[in-house]
Amino acid sequence: MNKEELNSILKIIEEEISKTETSIEHYKELTKPIAPENAIGRVSRMDAINNKSVNDAALNKAEQKLSNLKVSLSNINDPDFGVCFKCKNNIPIGRILIMPHARFCVQCAS
Ligand SMILES: [Zn+2]
Repeated sequence: MNKEELNSILKIIEEEISKTETSIEHYKELTKPIAPENAIGRVSRMDAINNKSVNDAALNKAEQKLSNLKVSLSNINDPDFGVCFKCKNNIPIGRILIMPHARFCVQCAS
């Protein structure tokens, strides 16, 4: 992978990190403890609990993504960066741009 490609990947990873951090903040806001039943009513509390589990899952996913992105950021100068972990072929740059944390090529990931 040439320096230019690495720079564009680096830029994308940094953008993704800042986007993911923003959505983590957003989900944290949405997953705050739910008000007691007598404050918001039983039905809306049940709604809130349902929404909370959806948002909790989204929050977990975003946190996972953020840690993956940070790993890729620290691996980017690695000579193995962009090389499939399993078959050692180069991972196509298009895939890295979509999934910067991908450690496997499409074949090995499926
Ligand atoms: Zn592979």
